[in-house]
Amino acid sequence: MTRKVKVRFGRSIREFDLITSPYPHIVVPTVKEVIHGWYYGYYDNGRRECSSERILLNPYNGCSVSCPMCYARSFGGYFTLWDEEGIVTVFKDFHLKLKDELSRLYWASCAYLCPSSEPFQKPLENLYHLSEKSAEVFLDLDLPVEFITKRGDNIPIRLLDKMASHPYGHCFAQFTVLSLNDEVNSVFSPNGARVDDQLKGIRRCVDRGIFTVVRMDPLFPGITDDEKTIRELVECAKNLGVSHIIFSLCDVGRRGESRRTKLFNVVKEFFPEAFQLWLKVYASSQDGDITYRRRVFSLARRICDEVGVTMALCMEFEKVKVGGKVVYRGLNEDYMSSLSCEGINVPIYWRKSLDENFKPLEGCNGACLLCAKGVQRPVCGQPSLMRASALKLRDYLNMRPKYSDLTFFVKK
Ligand code: SF4
Ligand code: SF4
Repeated sequence: MTRKVKVRFGRSIREFDLITSPYPHIVVPTVKEVIHGWYYGYYDNGRRECSSERILLNPYNGCSVSCPMCYARSFGGYFTLWDEEGIVTVFKDFHLKLKDELSRLYWASCAYLCPSSEPFQKPLENLYHLSEKSAEVFLDLDLPVEFITKRGDNIPIRLLDKMASHPYGHCFAQFTVLSLNDEVNSVFSPNGARVDDQLKGIRRCVDRGIFTVVRMDPLFPGITDDEKTIRELVECAKNLGVSHIIFSLCDVGRRGESRRTKLFNVVKEFFPEAFQLWLKVYASSQDGDITYRRRVFSLARRICDEVGVTMALCMEFEKVKVGGKVVYRGLNEDYMSSLSCEGINVPIYWRKSLDENFKPLEGCNGACLLCAKGVQRPVCGQPSLMRASALKLRDYLNMRPKYSDLTFFVKK
């Protein structure tokens, strides 16, 4: 008999058939809009640290890599099913919904696979190919694609070849390497690729001329935050042809959250010598003590400068009071050495009519956050981009072709 699983959405509960092989998962229809941007805008208390606009794609909820620190464990709905029972949700025909939504847009940004799951997770991506098919939808329209992966051993070579032949050279790849020590990776990313396989994946991208980033994301206090560990990894990346590194410090979740409890138990069991430091670093903040974080980020910056690569932080803020109100101030203002946090400048894309492919907007470097902060002058004329807002599909649908081009059509 088929086992049913229940998923809670607010007050309602829905039931699904569990598919146990080759990995526990459920398949659900893709009903909601799939196109959206970052979750916070710059004007939402400053809580936006991502330089450039991206279309965030999540064909899966949940992830077989199963990192204990994964922030998606704190989400509700299908993510709770994954966190509590290890069951991944697959969105049926996700790429077809994506294709339909994109077909109605005049403006679009680079695709990002995937903000809250591993795009090339084994074995489900090998079965459903939803990440690859979604990337192809973008590439077929000449839109660029980026991915972040811990499964460098499971990226389809044909996808890398397509990314490498993007007409404007704006596709890029990000590989998370928590440490060069396999023991650290096997504890914090149990079903990720082994270090050697990640490094081979990096080499495959670099060899194809794809801009490639290494992410030490996150760093773990007392485990991977020392000069020797960081320097070895940065030097290794540089030797492979990588020129940009991204860092963050582990976020442990709020007090009382099961993610936090489990994570502390993992540290206590596998890295008991680091446990006291964890208690200290996270005593008053789930992000880590700000003095400690600044010390580690200064170290990372110094190492990157010395090795000769650029660096940025991912979603690292400090809370500051402005006029009696608490706002977020991104720490990249102090530590980033590149213009955009991803180390590559990818402009926004647009098109004059819906039956043609997209092209990059001339004069745009894609660093919308700098336009929002008034550091550079926007050329797109699109208010939601210029404010670095949290974009939804409707915001994209509201962006029309450039005024000058409409005039051009009228004259014709
Ligand atoms: S690979 Fe990423 S999405 Fe998957 S469990 Fe780890 S942190 Fe979460
Ligand atoms: S001009 Fe500025 S705000 Fe507009 S898309 Fe380019 S970087 Fe973003």
